[in-house]
Amino acid sequence: METDRSYYVEPSRKTPVIRTDVLVAGAGTAGLIAAVAAARTGAKVLLVEKLPVPGGTLTNGGIGFNAYYSQETPEGDVSRRIVGGLAYELAQRLEITGYSTGFRPVRNDHYRIPHRFMADHEALKAVASEMLMEAGVEVLLQTFLSDVVFEDGKIQAVMIENKDGRSAVMAKQYIDATGDGDIAHRIGLEQRPLWQDYDKVCGGPTGLVFGMAGIDFDRAVAENGGAFMQMSEKMGPDGGNLGMHRYAFAHKAKPDRYPLMNRIDINFFTSFQGLHEGEATYINNSKAPKIDSTNARDYSLAEMTMRSRIMQMASALKAEVPGFENSYVNWASVQLGVRASNITTCDYMMTQEDITEARRFEDEIGLYAFHDFAPKHAELFCKSPGFYGLPYRMLLPVGADNLLMAGRSVTYDINAHMSTRNTVCCMEMGQAAGIAAAMCAEKEIGTRDLDYRDLRAKLIESGVILT
Ligand SMILES: Cc1cc2nc3c(=O)[nH]c(=O)nc-3n(C[C@H](O)[C@H](O)[C@H](O)COP(=O)(O)OP(=O)(O)OC[C@H]3O[C@@H](n4cnc5c(N)ncnc54)[C@H](O)[C@@H]3O)c2cc1C
Repeated sequence: METDRSYYVEPSRKTPVIRTDVLVAGAGTAGLIAAVAAARTGAKVLLVEKLPVPGGTLTNGGIGFNAYYSQETPEGDVSRRIVGGLAYELAQRLEITGYSTGFRPVRNDHYRIPHRFMADHEALKAVASEMLMEAGVEVLLQTFLSDVVFEDGKIQAVMIENKDGRSAVMAKQYIDATGDGDIAHRIGLEQRPLWQDYDKVCGGPTGLVFGMAGIDFDRAVAENGGAFMQMSEKMGPDGGNLGMHRYAFAHKAKPDRYPLMNRIDINFFTSFQGLHEGEATYINNSKAPKIDSTNARDYSLAEMTMRSRIMQMASALKAEVPGFENSYVNWASVQLGVRASNITTCDYMMTQEDITEARRFEDEIGLYAFHDFAPKHAELFCKSPGFYGLPYRMLLPVGADNLLMAGRSVTYDINAHMSTRNTVCCMEMGQAAGIAAAMCAEKEIGTRDLDYRDLRAKLIESGVILT
């Protein structure tokens, strides 16, 4: 289809105004936490989200809570919990519901972080909703942020659209937690297309995660040998019951029967005795199309392709793999997940060297360690003590004074992004952005005028671990 390059000039119109202290765009992994943090700090907060449920890729796709602990190091550092605050509170609340595995030990973990946590999607949606309601955040779901008015280095208003029509939100501070940096893009801040690099590290910038139930894991382990065996060994009776399993299906794929897949790599985050019996809770099909997810046509086509592909994968498993005979797809992500799109330039851009060297920062707002790519490239692991710091400056987009970024839209070093984009790190950024925005709104100052010592004091008071 050809793009029509002509323009329609819209008549000017009067748009109703909603006033608030802090506007958070995107109720995803980072934005959900940012909104709760800002509201608990005393700000009036409006959170807008285009999907019908909060939680973003954490609820709708990722679901792996990677990770709350530091890495074990060859120098002998023992893994310890380095993430507290709202990210940890969310895990604790999920544990209370009974719909999570809790923190489970994993033996010989190739990420060098011997604890895993996984939760049920529906419980996560409910707990996230409860946290937002309790904090008094005003939430508008099924609401799209469609435009931004920007003058003199400051956002004056953002336009939102929903069933009520179009509204202008005028806030003192704005948080861009859209994953794609939609606010930053609309006001023309510098962005780089990191999605183009993603094939090199993990099979592409997108993925549609789903789950299957009705699996006879005992039979799968007994009859599929090697790969399944390895997983079950990791999960012995005295060890954890949560593991990740990559089952290379290449040797069984039949291109004539399953044309959309010439190879399947499936990561099962699965729980034998824990979360749901007989369920592969998290099947991560990493071979999704390489697309710019901010291009509506490409994203739509990729979404539909993946809907078809996951059903072919499920059919292939059912037909070809012992133990899967009675299996079925019991959930699929609401939308095609995005690992990376465009990255916004911020005052500080994290590098892989910062991670490898286990660097710390004066204006640190959190600690982190998990690295998705390090098991394949040992040089990417952190040196002793097995974790690194996250500076406040990584949240400040160059060129805007009342905007904070949080989530996967920062960090354009691809290797470093393979660490900072993970869910728990996004939540840490969210908490810091939320508290900072609330403090700036209260003091009526720009984000760079906030004394980071005050921010750190407030973060520590909120349970964030900074030492
Ligand atoms: C397939 C896949 C598997 C993954 N597996 C793992 C894993 O096992 N462990 C792990 O730790 N990480 C994993 N990740 C990475 C991790 O899930 C994401 O990087 C992280 O959740 C991103 O958080 P975020 O807050 O930046 O974005 P999101 O959680 O995606 O939130 C962005 C939110 O903004 C909303 N939004 C976007 N634009 C607008 C707009 N204009 N108006 C209103 N709302 C808008 C979106 O709907 C969304 O809810 C995975 C990612 C993918 C794609």
